[in-house]
Amino acid sequence: MELSTRRMEQLLQIGRELSAAADLELLLDKIVTSAAEMTGSQVSSILLYDDEAVALRFIASFGAGEQSLQAIPVPLEKSIAGAAFLEKRLVAVRDAAKSARHFKRVDQVTRITTRSILAAPIIYREQALGVIEILNKIDSTDYNGEDATILETLASLLALALENASLESIIEKIKEETQRLDKMKTDFIAITSHELRTPLGLILGHSTFLREILEDEYHDQLDTIIRNAMRLKEIIENMTSVDNAQTGTAVLRSRTVSVRKIIEETTEKCHPEARLKKLHVRTALGQSELLIEGDSEKIGIIINNLLKNAITFTNEGGHITIAAEQVPGYIKIAVSDDGIGIPAKDIAHIFERFYQVESHLTRKHGGMGLGLSVTKMMVEMHGGRIGVESVPGKGSNFTILLPLDSAQAEATGKVFIT
Ligand code: ADP
Repeated sequence: MELSTRRMEQLLQIGRELSAAADLELLLDKIVTSAAEMTGSQVSSILLYDDEAVALRFIASFGAGEQSLQAIPVPLEKSIAGAAFLEKRLVAVRDAAKSARHFKRVDQVTRITTRSILAAPIIYREQALGVIEILNKIDSTDYNGEDATILETLASLLALALENASLESIIEKIKEETQRLDKMKTDFIAITSHELRTPLGLILGHSTFLREILEDEYHDQLDTIIRNAMRLKEIIENMTSVDNAQTGTAVLRSRTVSVRKIIEETTEKCHPEARLKKLHVRTALGQSELLIEGDSEKIGIIINNLLKNAITFTNEGGHITIAAEQVPGYIKIAVSDDGIGIPAKDIAHIFERFYQVESHLTRKHGGMGLGLSVTKMMVEMHGGRIGVESVPGKGSNFTILLPLDSAQAEATGKVFIT
C-alpha cells in the first residue's frame, strides 16, 4: 500500500524527532497524536508490557479524555491489544462488541464505546515490548492497508525510542552506581588512614625503644617488626596523601630544589631492593643540577613511587634507567624498565586509586594500587604532567614533565593530561 507524500513526510518527521528528542514522554504524545490524526481515529494509545503485573499498561493516549488509564492493567489473554502482543502481529477488529477478546473495562472508564480497533505490536529484536492501537475510525469505514502501514511504521519507531530510553536509564544507573562506589573509596581512604595512623605510631615507637634497650639476640625480631611497620607506614602515608588531595588540604611547599640531588638520593635508598633482584639501575642526568621551584618531599615521593614500581615489576637481572634533562620550561624525568610491561587495556586505569593490573587474588606483588594515583596527583600539584608508554613483556617508560616554576605554571592555569 502506497502512502501519500504528506503522510510519508509526517512519518519522516517523527523519525527525525526520535533521534533529536530528549524527552520520551513528549515523543510518545507526538506519536499517539499523529497515529490518530493520520488514520482519522477517535482514540490512539500506547501500552507497554509490565512483567510484574503480567499485563499491558497504558503509557500514552490521545482522545481518551482526562482519565488516567495507567492504573488499569490490560490482561494479555482477554484483550485485543493482548492478542497483538502475544501473537506479535497486527490485529484488526471491525466490531469490538462482537469480539470475545474486547476488554470492556477501558470503555467504562473512558465512556467511549469502542467500535473498530487496529492494534500493532511494538517489537524490538524479535521481542514484543508493547502495543500501539487506534480506535474508531471517524468516518466509520474499516481500517485499511494504509492505516496498517502507518501504525506498523509508528510501532517500529516506538521500538527504537523505547530501547533508547531504556539504554539511557541503564547508563544513568551505572553512573549513579559508579559515583556511589567512588564515594565509598573516598570514605574508606579517609577513615582507614586516620584510624591506622595512631596505633601504628605506637607500634613503631615502642619497638624502636625496645630495640634500644634489649640485647642483640632480640634485634632480628625487632628489626622485622620495625621493617614491616615501616611498610605499613608507607601505605598509610600514600592513603593520607590521597585523602589530602581529595579534601583539598594538600599543600605545595615550594623552594628551589635540585631534581638531580633528589633522584640520586632516592636511587641510593632503593639500591638494597634492586640489589636483591640483581637489577641494573642506572641514572642519566647529564651535567646540570636540574634546578626547579618545587616541593622536594613530593618530588622525592614521585620518583620513589616510580622507581619502586620499576623494581617490583622487573624480573631478576633486568634494567632500570632514571633519566632527567631540562627541556624548554620543564624538567623532564623518565623512569624506564625492561620489566613485565602493562597491557594496553589497563594503561588508562593505572593512575586510578586502588587500580592494579593483576587481580588481588592471583598477584605476586604487594602494594595497594595507590602509588601511581598519589604520583599523578603530586605531579599535577606542581602544574606538571605524567604519561606512560608500555609494551607487555618488553617494559614500561613513565615520563614526567615538571614546570621549572610550579607557581607560575599554576597561575597560568594549566590543563592536565595523563
Ligand atoms: P601499587 O602500589 O599496587 O604498585 P601503583 O598505583 O603504583 O600501585 O601501580 C598500579 C599498577 O600499575 C600496579 O599494580 C601494576 O600493575 C602497574 N604498574 C605500575 N608501574 C609498573 C611498571 N613499571 N611495570 C609494570 N606495571 C606497572
